[in-house]
Amino acid sequence: MEFGEFAETAAEIEALSADTEITERVTRLFERAGSDLPVVARFVQGRVFPAWSSETLDIGPNYCYEAVARAAGTNVSAADVEERLADVGDIGEVAASYEFGGQQGLAAFGSGDGSGSTDLAVAEVAAELDALADAAGSGSRDKKIDILFGLFNRASPEEARYLARIVLSEMRIGVGEGTVRDATGAAFDVPVESVERALQVSNDYGEVARVAREEGETGLDALELEVGRPVQAMLAQAGTVADALDDWEETAIEWKYDGARVQIHYDGDEVSLFSRNMEEVTSALPEIVEHVEEHLDAPAILDGEVVATDDDGDPLPFQEVLRRFRRKHDVARAREEVELDLYAFDCLHANGDDLLRAPLTERHDRLQGVLTKGVSALWTSDDPDEIADIEASALDAGHEGIMLKRPDSAYSPGRRGKNWLKRKPDVETLDLVVTGAEWGEGRRAKFLGTFLLSARADDAGDEFETLGKVATGITDEELADLTELLEPHIRSQDGQEVDIQPEIVFEVGYEEIQESPTYSSGYALRFPRFLEVRDDKTPETADSLERVERLAEEQ
Ligand code: AMP
Repeated sequence: MEFGEFAETAAEIEALSADTEITERVTRLFERAGSDLPVVARFVQGRVFPAWSSETLDIGPNYCYEAVARAAGTNVSAADVEERLADVGDIGEVAASYEFGGQQGLAAFGSGDGSGSTDLAVAEVAAELDALADAAGSGSRDKKIDILFGLFNRASPEEARYLARIVLSEMRIGVGEGTVRDATGAAFDVPVESVERALQVSNDYGEVARVAREEGETGLDALELEVGRPVQAMLAQAGTVADALDDWEETAIEWKYDGARVQIHYDGDEVSLFSRNMEEVTSALPEIVEHVEEHLDAPAILDGEVVATDDDGDPLPFQEVLRRFRRKHDVARAREEVELDLYAFDCLHANGDDLLRAPLTERHDRLQGVLTKGVSALWTSDDPDEIADIEASALDAGHEGIMLKRPDSAYSPGRRGKNWLKRKPDVETLDLVVTGAEWGEGRRAKFLGTFLLSARADDAGDEFETLGKVATGITDEELADLTELLEPHIRSQDGQEVDIQPEIVFEVGYEEIQESPTYSSGYALRFPRFLEVRDDKTPETADSLERVERLAEEQ
């Protein structure tokens, strides 16, 4: 395909706004692309390399300004190009504003005829950009600029517009990953689900389009994960324990580590590590490589978190781990300063089996089967108290909190779906008056265990309305203290239940406020948790029912 035809289509697409029309136009482009299909499928998104590849052109924007300036003529400097860019804000527009082609250059393509020739082929652009990426070492800056100059010097204004945008990863014509997926399905008459799955495992839009055309649905379905080629990480949404327990029968719970995501690939011989953005970070993390070599028994792809720790093994802030990820030189010294620990929490592939579609719990079993050390614990529960205890243990150990995951869910690369929830920190807390309690049972029979909470219903602090009971978040020692504090205020007792004179104020966290007939206020706190006794507050200064109503409305 001629690059001119690609540029013309890109311009048409850029002028459209309706998604369906854009997909239609990309579909036609794919149908016409011939052997250039893989490149076209990438260029149209502004990608030069497959999504899985860590390869980059390795140029700064000024390389492009300089090449454009040189192709534009002797009286144009890189500074002029930058100045125009500052005015119009789009490197494509700037590149298209010059007349190229009259310059004799050192590069192979430096022989334009001044007419903005249209014989630049997509394949040539791709080959030149590959050569540009390959140029390394001393003199590489000049070589890279020469190659760019050669390309611009042969480009028409329209070609220059999209060439500049591809080179600087600023394509922005409204074609996203979803468009390419849908257009691939439509162009080659294959189900979009097959395209989607193939993209998830291969992370290569060009290859998927080619396989769709040449081998159809069967070919796409046969594509598999490849050890050594990174997969997009599955992402989490913010959510609550209530969200998880309302939607799922039970939830899986893991600690949420404050570190950096790592994807581990081991082919039985070599280890490669990738960051959340699929950049290769193997050489920056030698202790993780060693850990994997020592404790991973089979070829596998694992997902996990790397956490920096101090000498006592306590987690350090996440900036420390990022510094380790970015480190290129003196890695051995960096390693002495900050140690890294691995917490693997998922298994995408083990021993030849692709596990993306297997349920989370099965993937975790497989993880435990292949990795003998460094596996993050996973619990399942439908009991909010148990979940709160797990969260407390995570916080005690210095971690961030918990993740809630749907136990039967598949691994969805790149998706920020509803199947993984990072538990939101508590919303605004409430200071509520204790107006009742219940004696505990068994080991805790000597202590008041469950506390009835009320909001102030008038200004004077004479009337109170109940809105929940709290029994979570209280340690055994705290129970003893709270009992001692409240016992003198007991007014009456009925079985295990006691009525308490409003005196003591608790600060409580909760996930949401619901309307409910259970309590006299007409509201109920979901998952209330004891935080502390507010010694500084009295019933008159505790939170009012009015504030509860307002918070309920604001949710
Ligand atoms: P956030 O970066 O706040 O969107 O939270 C999501 C990130 O938490 C993930 O990308 C992981 O790097 C990290 N994380 C920590 N612990 C876990 C876990 N148990 N499961 C999944 N992700 C985790």
